[in-house]
Amino acid sequence: MSEKWYPILDDETCIECGACFNKCTHEVYKLDGNKPVVVYPNGCVEGCHGCGNLCPVGAIKYSGDTTGLITLGNLSSCEGGGSGCCGSSGCC
Ligand code: SF4
Ligand code: SF4
Repeated sequence: MSEKWYPILDDETCIECGACFNKCTHEVYKLDGNKPVVVYPNGCVEGCHGCGNLCPVGAIKYSGDTTGLITLGNLSSCEGGGSGCCGSSGCC
């Protein structure tokens, strides 16, 4: 698990669709009403873009991300084998 890699949400862009919360199985997010909040960043898997890949408005960036990958909806392709998986080891 990562202490340096975790999602950062742009609250002004987020439309509170819940996709990131529903995607993550590592308890990184909790909901405050309909608003997802990062409550357990250490649970995030380094290199995973799983939630960002699903965000329809590109509101998710990652601390520690130096890949330059810009996620907007499903425009960034998943290169791993799993459905919606970014291919990182341990990715949800
Ligand atoms: S889906 Fe992946 S990138 Fe998003 S919070 Fe969960 S582990 Fe981290
Ligand atoms: S997937 Fe994007 S728009 Fe939807 S709740 Fe998460 S940050 Fe907000």
